[in-house]
Amino acid sequence: MKTFCGRANPTTGAMEWLEQDENYDYHQEIARSRYADMLHDKDRNMKYYQGIRAAVSRVKERGEKAIVLDIGTGTGLLSMMAASAGADFCYAIEVFKPMANAAVKIVEKNGFRDKIKVINKHSTEVTVGPDGDMQCRANILVTELFDTELIGEGALPTYEHAHKYLVQEGCEAVPHRATVYVQLVESKRMWSWSKLFPVHVEAEDGEKIIVSPSEMENCPGVPSVCDIQLNQMPLSDFTILSDVVTMFSVDFSKPVRSASTCYSVQLEPVKSGKAQIVLSWWDMDMDPSGMINCTMAPYWVKSTSAFQWRDHWMQCVYFLPNEEPVLQGEKVYLTACRDEYSVWYKLQKARGEEENKADVRVESPVCRCQAHLLWNRPRFGELNDQNRTRQYIESLMKVLKTDSVCLCISDGSLLPVLAHYLGAKQVEYYFFFKANRLEDKIKIIEARPELLTSSHLDDKKISVLVGEPFFTTSLLPWHNLYFWYARTAVTSHLSSDVTVLPQSASLHMMIVEFQDLWRIRSPCGTCEGFDVQTMDDMIKNSLNFRESKEAEPHPLWEYPCKSLSDPQEVLTFDFRKTVPQHCLSTEGSVNLLRTGKSHGAVLWMEYHLAADISVSTGLMQISNEKWNPHCKQAVYFFSSVIESETVSDLPSAVTYAIDFDTKTGEIAMDFKL
Ligand code: SAH
Repeated sequence: MKTFCGRANPTTGAMEWLEQDENYDYHQEIARSRYADMLHDKDRNMKYYQGIRAAVSRVKERGEKAIVLDIGTGTGLLSMMAASAGADFCYAIEVFKPMANAAVKIVEKNGFRDKIKVINKHSTEVTVGPDGDMQCRANILVTELFDTELIGEGALPTYEHAHKYLVQEGCEAVPHRATVYVQLVESKRMWSWSKLFPVHVEAEDGEKIIVSPSEMENCPGVPSVCDIQLNQMPLSDFTILSDVVTMFSVDFSKPVRSASTCYSVQLEPVKSGKAQIVLSWWDMDMDPSGMINCTMAPYWVKSTSAFQWRDHWMQCVYFLPNEEPVLQGEKVYLTACRDEYSVWYKLQKARGEEENKADVRVESPVCRCQAHLLWNRPRFGELNDQNRTRQYIESLMKVLKTDSVCLCISDGSLLPVLAHYLGAKQVEYYFFFKANRLEDKIKIIEARPELLTSSHLDDKKISVLVGEPFFTTSLLPWHNLYFWYARTAVTSHLSSDVTVLPQSASLHMMIVEFQDLWRIRSPCGTCEGFDVQTMDDMIKNSLNFRESKEAEPHPLWEYPCKSLSDPQEVLTFDFRKTVPQHCLSTEGSVNLLRTGKSHGAVLWMEYHLAADISVSTGLMQISNEKWNPHCKQAVYFFSSVIESETVSDLPSAVTYAIDFDTKTGEIAMDFKL
């Protein structure tokens, strides 16, 4: 059967119908999944193996048969570890069909067919009994169902069910326990991901300040986790206000309750400051003694020898609902509330009532101001970036006149307010001006650009067309070229001497060697001695399924790399003209100036706002590979380099062919090393 799926093309804005293969979602899931990253996580794998060996021995010492339940077996790895450690039998449960199929193949290839039964079900559907999926309850429970927030993938309800129905009382669990840690900090950088700071505009008639509405000031934001590679956050970007404390822990060998609850701890600030952010991470003890510990602690907390790069478990940033001044030595109480899947925090001066009472009603944060639904965290950061705002202000000052009629095309942008304060007579577009009492100065037009009529514009012609450009539908850097398509669609409403800001954009490229990010696309071969090549083949097949040879978005401030070439401008887009009918193509070669493995090309856009003023969404500073902290860049991995083991034959140049198809808005690229 063929299904068709409608979507707006992110670049051209056109509605299009894509033929949806029934396996499409499967392939996307596998290709972009974290399975490879988990299999590369040596520290995790080793500790699971040690923990599993120890658990099997403890059961054997008691003279019992070791019956293992492995929930979410994935490749079958943890079951194979258990079987090798001497377990008598393993039930390997996997809900995701393609993975369950892969697990069957991998288990067979490694010779464990008699010891491991793969069951393609959700664990809550598994039956126990003579005719059931499992003959009897297990006495060893092994799982790896954790995300960066620990519980976000549903570990708690899964454990709750397993203890009730699938395992024996007093079973051994690997991991044995997980503990969540927190540290209170002040950080302007991280706080800027959640609140809109006042924007200062030096206008002709004095300084204007754009303020956020009070409902936004007090808004608790959204409950979705903010997970980042905290190890890339320099110590200069935050101030530590408390020691690291244990927030709560879960013993997986005992019945687990998933119902909502709260935990409260007393903190004694080590420094006075503004409490804004709770940094959090967890660790796992693989055995009851705590001798086998796997930790996500950031660099300033643990020794470098414990360091393992991983992308499947990072660290969490939680935003307190409001910033609270705290004084050194003056105790405060931090409360963590959780439901089945997420955690949130509040800070109190006195001990919270609800602490540790089961089944308390705790409400997860709900955004009341709409802004947290419109702007994600990096977008908040971008709008709060004063350097960036200054560049837009300077550019607007160059192009705006007192009689300018200005049309702004960008999502959730502050440009209309800036344009108004900087003198434009009339500004068309947009929302949330109540706090700044601008409703009558700025008109919001809720229409797609191609449906814009002169009556929307009160029969005026646009003299200044502006965009950041920024659109929430953009995933890859060049998707913001939608501005160009929108500009083309509104051409008949533009005055003959219209000024377009940005006047143009350019696509830039650099060849890099990644410190670690290459791992997510690198095959595993064997993992702790088990042959998992079937998984490599499966990922490769999925990557080639439809969007073979595609660039993927990654925020490179979180993923350090070394430049091997100079950055190079490869294509330009002239917004003063309409989108041409023909393709824009380019070919060339980039010299590799430094030695290293060419893991891939990084691509980003730069916008040329006005003469001499450009903003980059990628490289900010060539000398130390500093990337724009608010944007994702496009990464095109060179699979041939990542898959090869040897570093011999380093090429001296990379040739490229890049094609921008103006009809589809897609950029196709090909590289040769
Ligand atoms: N155990 C493997 C894979 C871990 S990834 C390893 O450690 O390498 C987690 C897997 O659990 C995913 O494949 C997911 O599909 C599966 N999963 C999550 N919850 C599940 C549940 N309740 N029942 C069955 N499978 C589950």
